[in-house]
Amino acid sequence: MAVTISIEIELGWGVHDVGEYPHLSEDGDAERAALRRLLDRCDAVGVPISFDVVGHLFEADCGGDHDGPHRPGWFENDPGTDAARDPLFYAPELVREILDRPTDHEVCTHTYSHVLCGDADRETVAWELDRAQSIHRDVTGEETTSIVPPRHSRPPSPALREAGIEVMRMSRDTSDRGRASRLKELVVGPHPVFEPAFVDGVVETYCTSYPSLTSSTLPSGQQPPLGPFRALPVGLRQRLHRQYLSRALDAAAARDGDCHLWCHLYDLSNDAQWPGVSSFLGELATRRARGELAVRTMAKLNDAVRAEAQTRA
Ligand SMILES: [Zn+2]
Ligand SMILES: [Zn+2]
Repeated sequence: MAVTISIEIELGWGVHDVGEYPHLSEDGDAERAALRRLLDRCDAVGVPISFDVVGHLFEADCGGDHDGPHRPGWFENDPGTDAARDPLFYAPELVREILDRPTDHEVCTHTYSHVLCGDADRETVAWELDRAQSIHRDVTGEETTSIVPPRHSRPPSPALREAGIEVMRMSRDTSDRGRASRLKELVVGPHPVFEPAFVDGVVETYCTSYPSLTSSTLPSGQQPPLGPFRALPVGLRQRLHRQYLSRALDAAAARDGDCHLWCHLYDLSNDAQWPGVSSFLGELATRRARGELAVRTMAKLNDAVRAEAQTRA
């Protein structure tokens, strides 16, 4: 079975359409420190991650207008400055740091300006993907084949294929199973097992609708968890988080399935979430060494699913 980890890096772009940023640190320092700590740990255990990055973060500066076909006001909260003045909107050094690490991470796209692809018109989606690919070529030397659409809002498959995108992460909502079982899933699991599928020329890999690498019971970035969770001792919540992650592997192994865990960089950007994730990365490396599982980026997962589809054909 294979495990994929993907992490959204969006900083201010994740909610620029809302314009409120209580989950983020003011200057992006907490998020940058969390990324560095994560990359160090990945290098120590040799675990690669797919980082899906908002394209605008690759920019060192901009004039604030991007003259695309977006709805009026879409770039209203784009500061039109530079990385020194608005580090939540420009972060080229983060992309550089991921690429410069010895571990073979993947830098993929989360669109150029965090557009909700299912709501936007065709021209806007095409512009976003085109702009994202062009900045990937400039910075990484190649286009990306992987996308995580913002808020899992589904882009039309032809637009993806035209932009050279071959694999996409989508979420599957399990909240229809009822509130009690949803709560139980969030706290103790088991993480559901979803197989990747080949849909309309694009490989789809599925994850939960809630961040699954980090815990809903612990603070998400700078924001506290929901009230009912706060009543439990932090140490207990951290143990439950760690168990949730191990059980996610057990559940996938039992069904010989795949497991795709994800979160936003900001979710991880506090000291409550880190022990569970750090220790889990070690468990992944150990179980991989025992031959129990493979760890694949989205690009590698894409290769594997396509190869398998060809053998079957
Ligand atoms: Zn801009
Ligand atoms: Zn996002």
